[in-house]
Amino acid sequence: MYFIDVILPIPLKQSFTYSVNKDEAFFLQPGMRVAVPFGKSKIYTGIVYKIHSNDPPSYETKSIDQILDEAPIITQIQLKHWEWMANYYMCTLGEVVKAALPSAYLLESETIIKLNTETTASESTFTDDEFLVHEALMNQSSLHINDVRSILDRKNVVSVTKTLFEKGVITIEEEVFEQYTPKMKRYLKIASAYTSEENLRQLLDTMNRAPKQKEVLMTLFMLSSQQKKPIESVQLQKQSGATAATLKALIDKGVLEEFFQQQDRVRYQGEENNPIKSLNKAQQDAFQQLQNSFEEKDISLLHGVTSSGKTELYVKSIKAMLEAGKQVLYMLPEIALTTQLISRLQNYFGEQVSVYHSKYSVNERVEVWNNVLANKPKAQIIIGARSSLFLPFHSLGLVVVDEEHEPSFKQFNPAPRYHGRDAAIVLANLHGAKTLLGSATPSLESYYNALHGKYGLVFLKERFGNVMMPEIELVDVKERHKKRLMTGHFSDRMLEEINEALALEEQVILFQNRRGFSPFVECTTCGVAPQCPNCDVSLTYHQHKNQLRCHYCGYKMHMLVSCMACGSETLDTKGFGTEQIETELKVLYPDKTIARMDQDTTKGKHAYAKLIEKLENREIDILVGTQMVAKGLDFRNVTLVGVMNADTLLNFPDFRAHERSFQLLQQVSGRAGRTKKRGKVLIQTYNPLHQILQQVSVNDFEEMYKQQAEDRYQFKYPPYFRTIKITFRDRNFGKMQKASSWFAQALKISFKEHVLGPEQPPVGRVRNQFISNVLIKIPKQQSLAKTKAVIAKVQRSFLAVKEFSSVRVIIDVDPY
Ligand code: ADP
Ligand code: ZN
Ligand code: ZN
Repeated sequence: MYFIDVILPIPLKQSFTYSVNKDEAFFLQPGMRVAVPFGKSKIYTGIVYKIHSNDPPSYETKSIDQILDEAPIITQIQLKHWEWMANYYMCTLGEVVKAALPSAYLLESETIIKLNTETTASESTFTDDEFLVHEALMNQSSLHINDVRSILDRKNVVSVTKTLFEKGVITIEEEVFEQYTPKMKRYLKIASAYTSEENLRQLLDTMNRAPKQKEVLMTLFMLSSQQKKPIESVQLQKQSGATAATLKALIDKGVLEEFFQQQDRVRYQGEENNPIKSLNKAQQDAFQQLQNSFEEKDISLLHGVTSSGKTELYVKSIKAMLEAGKQVLYMLPEIALTTQLISRLQNYFGEQVSVYHSKYSVNERVEVWNNVLANKPKAQIIIGARSSLFLPFHSLGLVVVDEEHEPSFKQFNPAPRYHGRDAAIVLANLHGAKTLLGSATPSLESYYNALHGKYGLVFLKERFGNVMMPEIELVDVKERHKKRLMTGHFSDRMLEEINEALALEEQVILFQNRRGFSPFVECTTCGVAPQCPNCDVSLTYHQHKNQLRCHYCGYKMHMLVSCMACGSETLDTKGFGTEQIETELKVLYPDKTIARMDQDTTKGKHAYAKLIEKLENREIDILVGTQMVAKGLDFRNVTLVGVMNADTLLNFPDFRAHERSFQLLQQVSGRAGRTKKRGKVLIQTYNPLHQILQQVSVNDFEEMYKQQAEDRYQFKYPPYFRTIKITFRDRNFGKMQKASSWFAQALKISFKEHVLGPEQPPVGRVRNQFISNVLIKIPKQQSLAKTKAVIAKVQRSFLAVKEFSSVRVIIDVDPY
């Protein structure tokens, strides 16, 4: 009797046992996929985990339906890494597998398939079954795999679906978790109506009275004859010396057509690789220290101020690794940042660079997966967000974790709730590879590890090219209110500086960490503020659409004319968001171009890219935005950064709020003055003596670290204590309360005063689910494994209580 243990992509058990015959047992290897029946009628794709002839389990095992691979698509190291992840983050291997594999690898009876519109299928290569499915898809926009079963009149259709996918005939529909629009580049071409020579000549004849437009067209012809790749609009504008308005006129006339391409999918076109830059003295020293530190330690932290040239150090380290025949993983906290880096790395390493992230289509992800698995030349350097650490690396030599302090490395939902940086360190360790963490404002955790000898620590203290750090000024708005020096939300100082920058034709970025017009509306007669019906939070006023909206669940309603509680028409808006700043600016600077960058203005497909392009092309004078504007973007002509209100950041109820404020304010400040001219940063606050603001203003990371570390020690938080958060959710308040108290009580037997809560978070109800949290603090000397074992045991007893069966329990290890 032979059996295999199979990992299924579901959150139930670690693995499920199926029976196989002798031939199958000898053919199969861990890491191959099999299609297996599950429950009454479901079919899942699972991963072979173990092959054995141990005693069969007590239940009758089913046999597998089909073997889907001829060789493993998952390596042994990956399986080890995923075991660690399931274990450390307290979830099932199946949940890790589901997060790790492109969904096309996990076809199941619930999968929905669609016709791939990017390719045209050649029907002559189809089997009868494939033909039938293809035909059905021509008539219907999408099919459930269960529909495919009835079309083919049999149960197992996973392999037909798989071959159709491999032939590029179908795509797999995916769930979308995050809102992100990749950076798109804008290109221009002659409209198709004018591509014939005759039409073109006529067109040019009519343009004699529009010499500027004609010049643009002539430049376009010249460029097209010189280069094969499409013409970027930025390039055309520069070369022809035209204004953006001229280009727009040509587009409006229908002479030019614009089209967009996702920047990171544009294949590398360059001929030869550029030599990598020679490092300056400070960089050389730092590089040498890095090398030395890697002799002794596997992990190093590079603490270098913004624009100090950290990336060039990564490049140098990457080059060394490639020469040693090893693969490199370069992780970034956000997809939006990957696009900036790609062209930079491609300049040096050409087509050895691949990109991988969750916003790629399944086809693209499968392609990269296969290239990495086969260790292809074009998969030597992988740039990606956190999910790229799931790739089947062959021989990883170096992992770079850029902006290692960013909270977005942590996955919130669904499980596995892993931290990209920490999981990368474990991955590197399994490969015997080095990890290089880099940041201008390291996380307390990493800095602590570096100071205590766990990581190497290397500094880069000056900006490259002697560019000065921006000058930071704190502006006391309380005092200015008293002296009547405020115009709306702008202090006299802020206006002075804006005026000066605009007079010199420089650009300004203003940061306000809240979107919408005002965070809440209040009745001045009775004090009641309109609340979301689904969440315990006030609705935010959006002036543009005259709506009240919930930022937690998306609920919206028309702005009220009168108070719902007392009926009086004395509604007043409180607080302010990006939209209100934009409105005020338009009144203050009617001749200037004002733009806004936040979740509301970047929803459209190309909206984000267009805003960035406009800023780069100096078509925007002042950009107002949420923390989207803080991300590592590099704009040469921005000399002034204004923070409209630092206090909401500082007062956020979270133990990391101060650390986070420091990082965010330093990061936004880093946008100012990245060239010769020294940049200026103004921070408006009611609390200019706040220690964090003082530390930001003199760029004192060390002092910030010292004080924050003291607080963390005193209040028993990381890096001194580990924490595990357990969240309870239920539609019924009483049940949620009872369940969380029961759980906390059981934990207190073992962990005593180190169990906090249950406590309702600031927003205690979201989407009609009541929430409470229990936090466990774990001293360094307490075994983490034993702690988790106790939690798991309590959870098992909890699940046995019938009354609690509807309550959702979410365990988050090292929560953020
Ligand atoms: P960081 O990653 O620390 O923010 P970057 O690596 O982006 O800094 O460097 C800032 C700027 O300085 C970039 O425009 C980069 O091209 C330039 N730069 C850095 N190092 C060098 C070097 N050795 N030679 C030439 N230019 C450099
Ligand atoms: Zn009222
Ligand atoms: Zn809501």
